Amino acid sequence: MTTKAYGAYAADTPLEPIEIERRAPGADDVAIAILYCGVCHSDLHQVRSEWGGTIYPCVPGHEIVGRVTAVGASVSKVAVGDIVGVGCMVDSCRHCAACDEGLEQYCENGFVGTYNGPTPDAPGHTLGGYSQAIVVKDAFVLKVGHDARQLAAVAPLLCAGITTWSPLRHWNVGPGKKVGIVGIGGLGHMGVKLAHAMGAHVVAFTTSEGKRQDALALGADEVVVSKNPDEMAQHANTFDFILDTVAASHDLDAFTALLKRDGTLTLVGVPEHAHPSPDVSALIFKRRSIAGSLIGGIAETQEMLDFCAKHGIVAEIEMIRMAEIDTAYERMQRSDVKYRFVIDIATIAD
Ligand code: NAP
Ligand code: ZN
Ligand code: ZN
Repeated sequence: MTTKAYGAYAADTPLEPIEIERRAPGADDVAIAILYCGVCHSDLHQVRSEWGGTIYPCVPGHEIVGRVTAVGASVSKVAVGDIVGVGCMVDSCRHCAACDEGLEQYCENGFVGTYNGPTPDAPGHTLGGYSQAIVVKDAFVLKVGHDARQLAAVAPLLCAGITTWSPLRHWNVGPGKKVGIVGIGGLGHMGVKLAHAMGAHVVAFTTSEGKRQDALALGADEVVVSKNPDEMAQHANTFDFILDTVAASHDLDAFTALLKRDGTLTLVGVPEHAHPSPDVSALIFKRRSIAGSLIGGIAETQEMLDFCAKHGIVAEIEMIRMAEIDTAYERMQRSDVKYRFVIDIATIAD
């Protein structure tokens, strides 16, 4: 099926309208008409090949919400007309130790990304959600239980939501824990909302003075402008856990110094340029850890979506037309996003 999309032909050219082919649904496939797609900083990193290895044409987008238009003969999980989500993965090997544990994001044979992943479909790599339709294996389709009026704001849960949910759960964030969220962008603002809903004492760290009030409204108990050393020093040695979502290279020591003994700083941001090497004595003398975390498995993504539907949690979004994507990228690059751009996919047809 010929489908209208937006993509780039090279790292240094803007996104433009492009026509792509979607496969006819097989027995275990779900065909989806895309309604909304969130704009993740990873889309920008990938389309500009900031991580290297981008295959062109590149159609980004992995925060997808849409309506099922067809299902294969063996699909029972969803039916035509259902509202569903697709996140960062569209397949994995399904038989390695990680897949067996429901941790498809750590698939030992490599998961298939929603874009830039290997596929037998034309043109040989996956093409993402900046498009009118997508066909996905049913095992990688998520059910959306939110109210129909919230669907645009649900889309960012498919990456920003799960990427913060998974480490918050893994490191047992909850009542009695002091938790920091660094970088109040797409991921960070969801981190604040989720950590607050889990019952933790939440401190938001931002470089943007103008986000102070917003961070409190999102659910932070305290806000620290991380450029201010005095404000930072007041929190030394007090955190159980800090989640760092910053999309650019920065000094990690400023945050490890805020951890208690045995505390953990978990990185989810994947900047183009490496962070300066951390001070090991700050780790050694308090048995502190620096860790990383990658999105989340399909089962825990469903768990997160169900939790958010139950608690009325969605992202704070600014809806854009497809043709405005380059401006959105420029603003995201300047940290000028409150707090996730979401594309109204109907505007691709314009
Ligand atoms: P985003 O919306 O652009 O937010 C990043 C935030 O980081 C900014 O809003 C800003 O917050 C802060 N920031 C930016 N530049 C900074 C700098 N130079 N110094 C300090 N703080 C800075 O990006 P996002 O979509 O949330 O993604 C964040 C990162 O996570 C990206 O690198 C993305 O590729 C990565 N990611 C990783 C995973 C994973 O599985 N690990 C999944 C999705 C995304 P303030 O204005 O509050 O300072
Ligand atoms: Zn993402
Ligand atoms: Zn696997």
